[in-house]
Amino acid sequence: KRLLITIDGPAGAGKTTVSKMLAERLAYTYVDTGALYRGIAVAVRDAGISPDDDAGLETLCRAPDIRFVRAENSLRLLLNETDITGRIRTPEITMLASAISAKPVVRECLLHLQRDMGRQKGLVFEGRDMGTVVFPDADIKFFLDAPLEIRATRRYREFQGENRQTLADVERDMRVRDRNDSTRRIAPLKPAKEAVMIDSATLSPREVVMQMLKYIKE
Ligand code: C5P
Repeated sequence: KRLLITIDGPAGAGKTTVSKMLAERLAYTYVDTGALYRGIAVAVRDAGISPDDDAGLETLCRAPDIRFVRAENSLRLLLNETDITGRIRTPEITMLASAISAKPVVRECLLHLQRDMGRQKGLVFEGRDMGTVVFPDADIKFFLDAPLEIRATRRYREFQGENRQTLADVERDMRVRDRNDSTRRIAPLKPAKEAVMIDSATLSPREVVMQMLKYIKE
């Protein structure tokens, strides 16, 4: 049986690396839902809309023309048929994605998009509310976490040189995003009741995947 697997947790916990590895191992498709929020942030930025302009956000989100396409060995994100993959990881878009993700209209439109994508089976969905809100009936739910300092250090190493951010900048931004994620009124970040909790602090991505595989019975 091909399953729907969810992996939730804060930024830098290792979700993306682990989701990709797990999906590869199972020959499943992997969906990075954070990239969708980042894609909407790019659209908001390009349209010059304020993140507090609810009416503007609603118009923009009503029919989001945003989707993933498979390239050689990566997924590309298309917004109105334009490849924006290279634009979604900047510090500015990261913080804008965090801000707009608290907006009910944004979450609502992405909820439908994500559930549509989930109709297929054999999927690994990675995000903040996959197991709690988007796919409450998922076959297996994981929650991946690690202390802030460790998560910030990982993210810093990953982008070192590219974003001109110091470790302190990365940690500050991550703390703000953690707070946004856990305090927003709609779909705050928290483990689903039945989620398998994994602390990635002292585990390599491979070791995390090995732990996950023990719970996955296809
Ligand atoms: O996972 P990533 O850090 O790329 O996500 C970018 C932002 O999108 C997060 O800071 C979070 O606010 C938001 N997000 C969300 N729900 C998800 C995935 C991401 O609110 N399922």
